[in-house]
Amino acid sequence: MSPEESYDVIVIGAGPAGSTAAKYAATNGASVLLIDKKKNIGTPIQCGGFLPCYEELQELLPRARLPSTLMDIPKNCIHTSTRIHRFISPNLEPKEFEVEANVLDRSRFDKYLVKKAVKAGCDMLVGTRADSIKGDTVSLKGLFGEFDITTKVIIGADGPNSLVARHSGLIERSDDMGRAVALEYELTGADIDKDAVEMYFGRDYAPAGYGWIISQGGDTANIGVGLRRPLCEPGVSVRDYLHRFMYEHPRASPRFKDARITAVISGIVPVGGAPPQTVAGNMIICGDAAGHLIATNGGGIPTAAVGGKIAGETAYDAVSGTCDLMQYDSRWREQMGLEIKTSVYVKRLMDGLMRSDQMMSTSMKMLTTDQMKALQRGRLPDMVKKMLQSLNTGI
Ligand SMILES: Cc1cc2nc3c(=O)[nH]c(=O)nc-3n(C[C@H](O)[C@H](O)[C@H](O)COP(=O)(O)OP(=O)(O)OC[C@H]3O[C@@H](n4cnc5c(N)ncnc54)[C@H](O)[C@@H]3O)c2cc1C
Repeated sequence: MSPEESYDVIVIGAGPAGSTAAKYAATNGASVLLIDKKKNIGTPIQCGGFLPCYEELQELLPRARLPSTLMDIPKNCIHTSTRIHRFISPNLEPKEFEVEANVLDRSRFDKYLVKKAVKAGCDMLVGTRADSIKGDTVSLKGLFGEFDITTKVIIGADGPNSLVARHSGLIERSDDMGRAVALEYELTGADIDKDAVEMYFGRDYAPAGYGWIISQGGDTANIGVGLRRPLCEPGVSVRDYLHRFMYEHPRASPRFKDARITAVISGIVPVGGAPPQTVAGNMIICGDAAGHLIATNGGGIPTAAVGGKIAGETAYDAVSGTCDLMQYDSRWREQMGLEIKTSVYVKRLMDGLMRSDQMMSTSMKMLTTDQMKALQRGRLPDMVKKMLQSLNTGI
């Protein structure tokens, strides 16, 4: 397909943020071009697919107006559903609480979101990379040729290594502590608890992060680690940590003795929070590109979708002259800024605890399940908040 020479809005990246942005801008009446460098949307997958159900998401982001696509998820995009969240401390003590959640087939889910955007009226180019940006012109290169497209608004939904974020100067260089590295295997033949998602803590397996086991139904699962490089042992790679977790962890490894790896998935998780500004000139950033993620659990699907929705709505408002594009920044911060910021703060507190397995195990033992749930969601439990307030920390 040949695109038009000019659009109101170009959205770069067709993950949850970009497709949602394109859908909302097009629904409202803007001419929109959505592009992705992937030839096959959603593939390769870079996600565990864990997504709490709609009611849980409303509690997680109470001020956000969630896009309907997070509620009406087609059954064929869901591998399985889980209802327990279990934490395993470094000294192997389990603690659990109930969380209704779905485990998505991200590849199908991303395609579903693209279909929604196209149905709303946007043009779409797969296998097409945004190569450079000059003023109001984006140069595209890929399967369908090379094009220079002019536009009024550029939405950068292009993930953690965003070209738009770098080009606009909104994000200069992320420090390694603000970027977790994640590696996971999809497995068959695993003996796992189908009702539970498990998070394992301990410096030997995931320094300043956690290991996870997410059921995909039947005997399939994904097992992964997310960690920060500066806190890893010298000479030990992310793969070494994942293998230790899968083959040596006293509680996890027995389940995988007959398992076979069917896919390898890796990626960056931006856990450092959002930059001070997310709009520059005609460019705005959303989703992972803007650090829209709950840092304590690495969950970015819901925040990407909310950020994308606000980006699409604001881009339309700006091109139709009813608001300044700058309003995007305050709009998304009103809906989820506090939750993202607090999660980064809580993550930093947890980093301190995770420097010692003993301290982490003792803290996990002391916390009630409600307090654990609050921390996992990136909230400060009331008890901790009161303690910090009494110390006059400004929280
Ligand atoms: C291993 C791993 C496991 C995870 N597990 C979970 C989980 O279980 N639950 C959860 O909620 N979150 C999880 N996350 C985080 C989640 O995947 C992201 O937060 C989410 O995908 C962000 O959506 P996005 O649309 O902002 O970015 P992405 O989904 O990364 O989409 C960005 C898109 O932009 C495209 N792109 C990039 N540059 C260009 C360019 N120059 N031109 C054209 N296209 C471009 C890419 O091809 C990509 O399709 C995980 C992350 C990783 C790495």
